[in-house]
Amino acid sequence: MDYQAILNVIEKEFSPTEDMGNVAAYIPELSKVNPLKFGVYLFCQDGSSFEFGDSQEKFSIQSVSKVFTLTIAKELLGKDLWKRVNVEPSGTPFNSLTELERESGIPRNPFINAGSIVVADALLSVLDNPKRDLLKFVRKLCGDDDIHYDEAVARSEKKNGYRNKALVNYMKALGNIDNDTDEILDFYFYQCSIAMNCDQLSKAFMLYANEGKHFQTQEKVIDRQSVKRINSIMQTCGFYDEAGEFSFRVGLPGKSGVGGGIVAVHPEKYSVAVWSPMLNEKGNSALGMKVLERLTTLTGFSIF
Ligand code: GLN
Repeated sequence: MDYQAILNVIEKEFSPTEDMGNVAAYIPELSKVNPLKFGVYLFCQDGSSFEFGDSQEKFSIQSVSKVFTLTIAKELLGKDLWKRVNVEPSGTPFNSLTELERESGIPRNPFINAGSIVVADALLSVLDNPKRDLLKFVRKLCGDDDIHYDEAVARSEKKNGYRNKALVNYMKALGNIDNDTDEILDFYFYQCSIAMNCDQLSKAFMLYANEGKHFQTQEKVIDRQSVKRINSIMQTCGFYDEAGEFSFRVGLPGKSGVGGGIVAVHPEKYSVAVWSPMLNEKGNSALGMKVLERLTTLTGFSIF
């Protein structure tokens, strides 16, 4: 497969224009990002890589971090985690409160905010220093220590994250939160603030495309069953109330964040990260979705 030729076609066909969507203004710090940034990085299982545009510039990974925290929590807690968070698509926006009322404070899945806040709570209960351990895990997956929290983004969200405050308090009232709500949100906002580039993200996500093994050392980090489960949740829940649409158009498991990043994996083939900060009305990168749809059309294969 000539991935370079395919990326060349995509680079020619798509260029960002300001009418493609809006940057995430509800986190003021994110509204400062240049909407016209655009980068792609594709890493293959054989070690080859292809890229164009702003693929080396870091951005806020936001909800893409939910995959990393879920991976750690699943390793540490095993089946107990599923008593507190389900694995069903929500069909509602990522920050929705509505199902919690009907479903006794058990979030639909770990990739909506409520679910990831429960995962953050679970990690707080078992790790001495969750912020340090999360960063260590992500750095290890990328083989790169130059990955950090963006304090300004974390502070900006802490100041304005009223919906997340509502979610954690509501779940606390319904008995599904153990730790102090401020401490949980502090960790949650920090996890979302991690800054990474497309290069680093695609390498980290090789874990889910390479049978749970590190992209470089081939060391086994998680088992194949964990890969199956996490990829399944990405496939059905990775894009909130647009998960069906992403699956229909792209045909790969993936995860988005309101920083405009999307990472998708083709198991046993490649991992690909796209960044374009202009979001559609569902909070997913509009151009990112188009690019990935074109990628699986041009390669002629998806997981289906
Ligand atoms: N930090 C963001 C929030 O909680 C993450 C949302 C997202 O990326 N979809 O609202």
